[in-house]
Amino acid sequence: MSSDRPTLDPEPLSAWGDGLMRPLLIAGPCSAESEAQVLSTAHGIVKCAPNVRVFRAGVWKPRTRPGAFEGAGKQALAWLQRVKLETGLLTATEVATPEHVEACLLHGIDVLWIGARTTPNPFSVQAIADALRGVDIPVMVKNPISPDLQLWIGALERLHRAGIRKLAAVHRGFSWSGSTPYRNSPMWEFPIRLAAAYPELPLLCDPSHIAGKPGKLHEVAQKALDLNFSGLMVETHHAPAAALSDADQQISPENLKGLLASLSFRVASPDALLRDRLEELRDQIDQLDADIAQKLGARMDLSERIGEYKRDHNVAILQPERWERIMNLQAELGGKLGLGTDFIEAFMNAIHQESIRRQTEAWDQHTEGSEGSPSFNTRRLQDPH
Ligand code: PEP
Ligand code: MN
Repeated sequence: MSSDRPTLDPEPLSAWGDGLMRPLLIAGPCSAESEAQVLSTAHGIVKCAPNVRVFRAGVWKPRTRPGAFEGAGKQALAWLQRVKLETGLLTATEVATPEHVEACLLHGIDVLWIGARTTPNPFSVQAIADALRGVDIPVMVKNPISPDLQLWIGALERLHRAGIRKLAAVHRGFSWSGSTPYRNSPMWEFPIRLAAAYPELPLLCDPSHIAGKPGKLHEVAQKALDLNFSGLMVETHHAPAAALSDADQQISPENLKGLLASLSFRVASPDALLRDRLEELRDQIDQLDADIAQKLGARMDLSERIGEYKRDHNVAILQPERWERIMNLQAELGGKLGLGTDFIEAFMNAIHQESIRRQTEAWDQHTEGSEGSPSFNTRRLQDPH
């Protein structure tokens, strides 16, 4: 990471002008569907949430499967122009090609963002960056859909090299096949590592795409604010249930008002501004340590369940190849993250021991007072999972 550090020298949000400042609040529908929907949503936002500065709407929607609503396209840029004229809100949309960039610049769109499906493609990002050479416009880069910090940084670098200084990163969570209560797993360690490497880079959170449902928006947005994020992008629609994309996660302007009122924003008091950098880094470490403890707890709960399963099914015992596979995977992952082999080995061995202790405990609780099976008892301690 240290070799990546000097590659970005973004302008701090406070220097962006145009009323863009911390906390930067962005709201608007997932997609621009019709002129009436766009305008009604924008007016609702201005009325209910006057602190929102930027109106977002996807003009071209990258859909995972063909056949879904792909946005109204170029015609919607004129609707955004009308939003600006009638409400004074700045406008933002997603660009994925140089043609999108060109059309946005022609229509005076104020802020561009690169979506999670485009960020990981260096060709696309480079083409967008080339189209932006010499243009002074804020560009926000969403994290790639897979948890890869280097791809996120690489996209930011390409824009930076093309001369874009008003750069921001947007955390929208990561695709994750494991079970998660979120639509996209937040994996907070990634934005935290990005912020630690580039403290000047404004970091925003898109709680809508992380949460996937209104009920979890508050939790995600508050966590981002507690982690010192500079702002939020919240999908807001005048009639969420009728939305043509992401209907499950959008909220009405009235509910946006409630959400914003329920959040505690960090006060930009002189004290807060003078806050020692060391203290800030320590806060981030505390947050990561808490995340690690929670993940370890969840891991041990799983070990216990595996122990119960083995106990109940009298399942085969020694599985050294399973443990070897875990160790190899962790050594490979750790190596990529710059963690020493000895550290990984000691860490995983400690986890293994605790895991066995939990399995043994589950076993003993079950067999207490009964005669049990001596063969089970000798088996269980050797079992790596
Ligand atoms: C969006 O903002 O509507 C969107 C498509 O987001 P993402 O690129 O984060 O999936
Ligand atoms: Mn969306």
